[in-house]
Amino acid sequence: MSSTPASAQGDGQATAWWPRLHGALMPDYNRKATAYWWAMVLLGALTLLFAFRSVAALAPIAWAQIAAGMLVAMLAGVFPVRIPRSKNSFAAGEIFLFLLLLLHGPAAATLASAGEALVGSCRTSKRWTSRIASPAMAAVAMFASASLLQLTLDAQRRYGLVDDGMLLVASMLFAVAYFVLNTLLVTMVPHLKRNEPLRLRELLGSFGWVGIAYAGSASVAALLYLTFQQSGIGVLLAAAPIIGLLLATLHFFFRQQEADEVIRRSRSEAVEREAEQSARHVRELEVSERRFHSAFTHASIGMALVGFDGRILQANLALRTLLGVDDAELTQHDFSEFVAADDVALLAQQMARVDGREVEAFALELRCRHHDGSDVWAALNCSYFSEPGSATPRLILQVQDISARRRAETELHHIAFHDSLTGLPNRRRFHELLSLAISRGETERRQQFCVMFLDFDRFKLINDSLGHNVGDEFLMQVSRRIRDSVRPKDVVARLGGDEFAILAEDIDVERYAQHLADRLLDVLRQPLHIAGTDITTSASIGITFSRMGYSAPEEMLRDADIAMYKAKVAGKARYALFDVGLHTEVSNRLRLESELRGALAAGQLSVAYQPLFDLAQGKLTGFEALCRWTHPELGAVSPAAFIPIAEETGLMVPITDFVLRSACQQLKAWQLRDPAFADLTMQINISGNDIAHSGFLPRITRALVEARLLPQHLTLELTENILMERLEGALPMLTELRALGIGLSVDDFGTGYSSLSHLSSLPIDSLKIDRSFVRDLHLGSNESAVVRAIVLLGNSLGKSIIAEGIETEAQLGLLREMGCGVGQGFHLARPLAPEVADALLERIVVDAAHGRGAASLGAAALMH
Ligand code: C2E
Ligand code: MG
Ligand code: MG
Repeated sequence: MSSTPASAQGDGQATAWWPRLHGALMPDYNRKATAYWWAMVLLGALTLLFAFRSVAALAPIAWAQIAAGMLVAMLAGVFPVRIPRSKNSFAAGEIFLFLLLLLHGPAAATLASAGEALVGSCRTSKRWTSRIASPAMAAVAMFASASLLQLTLDAQRRYGLVDDGMLLVASMLFAVAYFVLNTLLVTMVPHLKRNEPLRLRELLGSFGWVGIAYAGSASVAALLYLTFQQSGIGVLLAAAPIIGLLLATLHFFFRQQEADEVIRRSRSEAVEREAEQSARHVRELEVSERRFHSAFTHASIGMALVGFDGRILQANLALRTLLGVDDAELTQHDFSEFVAADDVALLAQQMARVDGREVEAFALELRCRHHDGSDVWAALNCSYFSEPGSATPRLILQVQDISARRRAETELHHIAFHDSLTGLPNRRRFHELLSLAISRGETERRQQFCVMFLDFDRFKLINDSLGHNVGDEFLMQVSRRIRDSVRPKDVVARLGGDEFAILAEDIDVERYAQHLADRLLDVLRQPLHIAGTDITTSASIGITFSRMGYSAPEEMLRDADIAMYKAKVAGKARYALFDVGLHTEVSNRLRLESELRGALAAGQLSVAYQPLFDLAQGKLTGFEALCRWTHPELGAVSPAAFIPIAEETGLMVPITDFVLRSACQQLKAWQLRDPAFADLTMQINISGNDIAHSGFLPRITRALVEARLLPQHLTLELTENILMERLEGALPMLTELRALGIGLSVDDFGTGYSSLSHLSSLPIDSLKIDRSFVRDLHLGSNESAVVRAIVLLGNSLGKSIIAEGIETEAQLGLLREMGCGVGQGFHLARPLAPEVADALLERIVVDAAHGRGAASLGAAALMH
């Protein structure tokens, strides 16, 4: 009972190693194949055992012969002779096997065949199953077939039938039988593995050369045996190396043949591959040609195949559409027939370059002619094209419609070089054209030209007071007038704002320019009708001529601009010609202009006060505030010089503010000084810019409030010209100022064109007779009649009259006698610095204290 577990354990171990061994050695062997294998190995082992025993019974010399034969057979197994053009080979050792059989019987041949098979299987297979089974099967096959031969030979001997021929035949038959049996046993294995029945055809199929070789080997062995029987062992010993050598030669010969065969095969394979490759290429070429043809036909850009003579050989649909023609109208026609006349030469020139092999391709943009007569802008790409197999090269044209791009470019170009409001060329374009004129002038001295620079005298005012729409309309109308006044070949450009420039070329350009300037001044003086109102305008024109020798457009424009300034300074609405002296004049002016900007901040501006007197009583009534600029280098700069600059450069507003504030505060201080001065007034000069400024009224009231000055103590002076020019726009504001109690006075009265009756309706308190009338005032003069009329009129209209520029006692006397109420002038008092005016007031106070109250005039006279 106690042994059961142990035996069970032992069984378990047995079942454990067996499948593992089987799995490792024979993984592909099924049950049948495994059983067959084992059966063959066992049978082989038994056969070999039997063979050993039989050989052992032989004489030792036989052992030696058997061992030598075995060795040779095994050695031959190492160098098998491969059958050319077949997968088979035979080991030449078979000759020795068969010889051993004939010499020493089946047992010796069995041992030798097992040895040879072992060598052969070790050489051809790595599997132990083959290495074990092959010798076993060879032994079995040899023993069976050899025994059959022996039985046959014994029977023959018994009946005395043995002769050399019979032996030869029997040996050959035996060899075939051995081969068939061995092959059968060996091929059985794979068939069993795959579970397939063995077919006779396959067996016979593998017979072929090997079977013949076996039969041959057997015949050689039989011949050797017969020779041995007649001549002894010596022949065998001599024959063995010869046979070995022969076999080795065969081995190497066939191997060489095999190598040649490999080379030959690989060569023929390469040839086949090449042939296949070229066939594929041809196929690919065909496909690519079809693709190219379809790309050509269906391409969205126009394409054409053109001969070097320009003839169109083939064209696609896109090109036909682009030109609006059908195939017949295009093919065989010259491509240049479809190119705009102006561009034909350009195309021909480029084509000639390709024709002459100078270039392989070119690209250009040209105009093609559409069937409907319109121009089509096209980008043309032309390249040299040589068809494979054709001796005549062609040109391939690609034509792309770029009209839309060209249109956009032209528009952009127009926008970039033209003024959007007036449509005139802009500054950049004018520069360009002027540069061209300058370079043309350098080569063609006879061709003279001029630049005229136009600036409108009142544009800023129109723009500021009537709004930008009116300003725009103004510019459009004046640009039209300028354009209509020049010749078509003259260039009119808007440089910006209200600045225009004209470039005119003429042989007698100086006469033409002056004539044109006159015409322009005249045309531009005519009123413009804009937004229901008539606007009168004028322009100042500066002209410069190419004879001055300009090399850059900016220099010429600069000089025309300088001349224009001169025209402005000279009184506007006129033209001026540039001359070199103007340069200094203008540069001085430009210098003042730039320095005036800093003058206020640098404290260079101050206010002088010129006293005004009641002429009848000789009593001080107030002051006129006059701005002063003390330049650090130039000294006192006249207001007549810097006030116009301030007006043009927009500096007037801060200057007026400065004067206004200083004067109001100064007056307040003087009013507070003595009750006698409580009613002193201050006259302040106002420019055209001030009344156009929308914030003017608040600025005045702020100055009054800050100085705590009553409005009735302030009088604003406007020159007659300013008043008349801007009356319409300024009237509401003047009325408002008047309503506040601020006095308004017309300065330099008599120099403008205002009608006296018109004045009666204006909100004006006083008229200040211009000093030019006072200067020439003497009994019986024209001026005295005018002054007398003004005084009378003023009195009747209820406006007080002020005389300025009284320089002599006589003038004073006459004015008094005429009834002129108030006066000022160097004879009475010069414009005074505040501290000097202070001293004047002091003197008046002192005089009053001494009972000389009415002697203000006398006190002032000391202040000269
Ligand atoms: P205006 O308003 O007619 O000022 C009177 C000018 O006559 C002053 O010249 C004054 O010095 C000068 N004057 C006074 N009495 C006599 C005289 O007896 N004989 C002569 N020959 N001249 C006399 P000024 O100060 O050179 O001013 C010139 C012009 O500049 C002023 O003429 C006025 O239109 C303008 N101006 C001066 N200051 C200002 C200012 O602050 N604002 C504005 N907008 N204009 C001013
Ligand atoms: Mg004045
Ligand atoms: Mg004046």
